[in-house]
Amino acid sequence: MISSVLPTYNRAPFSFVKGEGSWLTEADGRRFLDLGAGIAVNALGHAHPDLVAALTEQAQALWHVSNLYQIPQQQALADLLVEHTFADTVFFTNSGTESCELAVKMARKYWYDKGQPDRTDILTFSGSFHGRSSAGIAAAGSEKMTKGFGPLLPGFVHLPWGDHEALKAAISDTSAAILIEPVQGEGGIRPLPDQCLKGLKALAEETGVLLIFDEVQCGMGRTGKLFAHEWASVTPDIMMVAKGIGGGFPLGAVLATEEAASGMTAGTHGSTYGGNPLGCAVGIAVMKHVADPEFLDGVNRRAGALRQKLEGLVAAHPTVFEEVRGQGLMLGLKCVVGNAAVVQAGYEAQVITVPAADNVIRLLPALNITDADIAEAITRLDAAATAVA
Ligand SMILES: *Cc1c(COP(=O)(O)O)cnc(C)c1O
Repeated sequence: MISSVLPTYNRAPFSFVKGEGSWLTEADGRRFLDLGAGIAVNALGHAHPDLVAALTEQAQALWHVSNLYQIPQQQALADLLVEHTFADTVFFTNSGTESCELAVKMARKYWYDKGQPDRTDILTFSGSFHGRSSAGIAAAGSEKMTKGFGPLLPGFVHLPWGDHEALKAAISDTSAAILIEPVQGEGGIRPLPDQCLKGLKALAEETGVLLIFDEVQCGMGRTGKLFAHEWASVTPDIMMVAKGIGGGFPLGAVLATEEAASGMTAGTHGSTYGGNPLGCAVGIAVMKHVADPEFLDGVNRRAGALRQKLEGLVAAHPTVFEEVRGQGLMLGLKCVVGNAAVVQAGYEAQVITVPAADNVIRLLPALNITDADIAEAITRLDAAATAVA
C-alpha cells in the first residue's frame, strides 16, 4: 500500500526534533553533526536567534496579504539585493524551481519584445540541475529526471559541460540564453573554472545571448563571496536564487538587470505567496549577516581550515576518497567506494553529509560553523571512512 506521504524520496530513518547551530537532535536523543544544512539551506545553522526573532516578530504582526498590495519587507529585501549585486530588480519566489520558471520566461520575453520571437532556445549543460518543474527537468535534460514525463517543454539545447567550442558552435539565431550553475551542486560539486565563466561572458556579449546563472545552491555566501560568479568578476543578466536566502524559510528570487527584465511588465508574471512578509522578514535577517564582508571573510577562513583538514582525510583514506573539490563551504569528497556507503557510515558516526552525482558526498555546512565543530566533523568523517575501508 502506498505511504500517505507520496514515496518520491528514499528517506533515512531519522526524525529530527530539534536543531541548534550545526547540530540536530534525533527523536531518540542522539545528536548529529549536520554538514548538509538541509541541502545548503540553513546558511546560518539551525535556530539562529536573529532569524527566530525576525520570523516570530513578523508572525505576530502580519503573515500574508498577497502581491496586490505593497509589502515593505519585500521592498527592503529587494533593495538590499540590488545594493549588493549586479541586479537592478528582483522578483521573489518560494523555491529554486520557481526561480527557474521565471528566468526562462524572462529570457524568452526579452527577445519577443525585441522583435525576435524565434530566439527561444535556452542552452544548458550536462550534469546540471535546475529544479523539478517542467522547465527545470527539460533544462537539465537527464534521463533520470525526464523519463516518463514527456512531452518535455521544448526549447532547451543540451551541451557538454565545460566545452567552450561546443557552446560556441551551438549559439545560433534561435538562442535566447545560456543557463549555467557557476558551481554544479547536484551534479557533484563541479566548479566551472573562472576562465570558463569569463569565456561564457565574452561569448554572451559577442552574440547578445543572455546569461542566466543558477546560484540556487552556490549563492548566498556559500563559496565565500555573496554570489559565486563574483570570483570570476563576471556578471549575469539574470540570476536564480533560493536555498540559503531564506535560511530555512521557503524563499527564492530572480535577480535581473533592467535591460534583461524589460519585458516583464504588469500582468506578465505572478505568485500568490512569493515575497510574503514572513519570508522576506527572514530574508532580510539572512542578508544582514551573509552580505557583511566580515562574515564572508569568516566563511573563507573556515573554508580554508575545513578544506585543509579534508585534504588530510583524503590522504589518510585513499581506498575511500579520491579527492576534495569545490569552493568555500560548498565542498565535495569524490569517493572510491560507493558514496551511499560513505553517507551511511557517516550516519553511524552521527555526521550528516549529502550524496551527489559523480559518486561524490557533499559537505554544505552552516556558513557560521564553529572551529570546534569543524574539528569534530573531521573526527567523525575519519571514523566513517575507517568503518567503510
Ligand atoms: C536545489 C536547486 C534547484 C531547485 O530548487 P528547489 O527549491 O528544490 O525547487 C535549482 N537549481 C539548483 C542549482 C539547485 O541546487
